[in-house]
Amino acid sequence: MSSFLPYGRQSLDAEDLQAVMDVLKSDFLTQGPAIGRFEKAVTDWCGAKHGIAMSNGTATLHLAAKAMGLKHGDWLWTSPITFVASANAGRYCGANVDFVDVDPGTVNLCPERLEAKLQQAEKDGKLPKIVVPVHFAGQPCAMDRIHALGQKYGFKILEDGAHALGGSYEDERIGNCRWSDAVSHSFHPVKIVTSGEGGMITTNDDELAWKIGMLRTHGITRDADRMVGESEGPWYYQQLELGYNFRMTDIQAALGASQMTKLDAFAARRREIAALYDQALGGLPLRPLARDPKGISGWHLYMIRLNLAEISQTRRQVFESLRAQGIGVNVHYIPVHLQPDYVRLGFHAGMFPEAEQYYQEAITLPMFPAMKDEDILRVRDALAVATGV
Ligand SMILES: *Cc1c(COP(=O)(O)O)cnc(C)c1O
Repeated sequence: MSSFLPYGRQSLDAEDLQAVMDVLKSDFLTQGPAIGRFEKAVTDWCGAKHGIAMSNGTATLHLAAKAMGLKHGDWLWTSPITFVASANAGRYCGANVDFVDVDPGTVNLCPERLEAKLQQAEKDGKLPKIVVPVHFAGQPCAMDRIHALGQKYGFKILEDGAHALGGSYEDERIGNCRWSDAVSHSFHPVKIVTSGEGGMITTNDDELAWKIGMLRTHGITRDADRMVGESEGPWYYQQLELGYNFRMTDIQAALGASQMTKLDAFAARRREIAALYDQALGGLPLRPLARDPKGISGWHLYMIRLNLAEISQTRRQVFESLRAQGIGVNVHYIPVHLQPDYVRLGFHAGMFPEAEQYYQEAITLPMFPAMKDEDILRVRDALAVATGV
């Protein structure tokens, strides 16, 4: 029996290790020059004006929402098929959270359902302040249409790009904010490039970038032009509002900057693996997610949906058989509104039927750049055993 194949893992090389060693031997473990280098590497790749590195992706969603003015009484809307962090960002700001059901094909936030919900919310006087489209599995959302609705209904757009770095929509790279106010990135080791833990906001909005940067460091500024009254001298700083310590270390940033030099190669390999899966999985009782032809996926995940009507096994049995065969499958995601902490807020099963249906059928297959071509065949064979075909 061959070894366990995880669903995702980082690829680090000698250059990455050296970049971290160099920081460890330098004067700055944090608040040093590696942060700016990493921010520039990401903004150069995406084509965005500003990058603000932070301790993790969750912190970037939180502070971007806060800097956009989200507060008690406001609404943030997102997709139910996402990691809890996309929704929690609203709650950290004291705002209300609601969801828009997904497109049954791509499983991304559905623009038609968004429009219908906006029409109702306008009547009820409860329009959202922020909508968070999540590029699920790496497949970009219908950003042109979501942007047009943002113009019409006056909400801000914060893209959750945690799965999507390396991808694009209508030739606009994810992260360049062509259709949004800001994009959140995550550098957790299962994501496209890693800094251990880490996240970044990219934005083209000068004021938003300044505000997020200020909130990242306790709400403190050293910029005399921003102070209340006069600066008292070169040592002086002011806390302008209640911020946080959400800084990234230089150790993490050096790793992230080194990883960014490999982003194109990682993205190309992920696309290759996806194409190999597409070929290999034909004839099995399952289907991949639909793809929007305007988008190039970052391929964080390769999701399948089981055709449960064609097999006698349950999703759980298929999943357990794959695990027993050494295939590190996963399920992305349990719909956020069904989490007990959201049920407590009044959400319940039946509210977002496309998301709930998807969840019943979904399995995440292994996907990471260091996978070998043979690994894809091994997954295919294991799926054949698990589904009894
Ligand atoms: C990973 C992820 C985040 C942020 O995660 P961190 O672990 O805090 O970096 C946010 N949204 C989605 C969809 C994610 O997958």
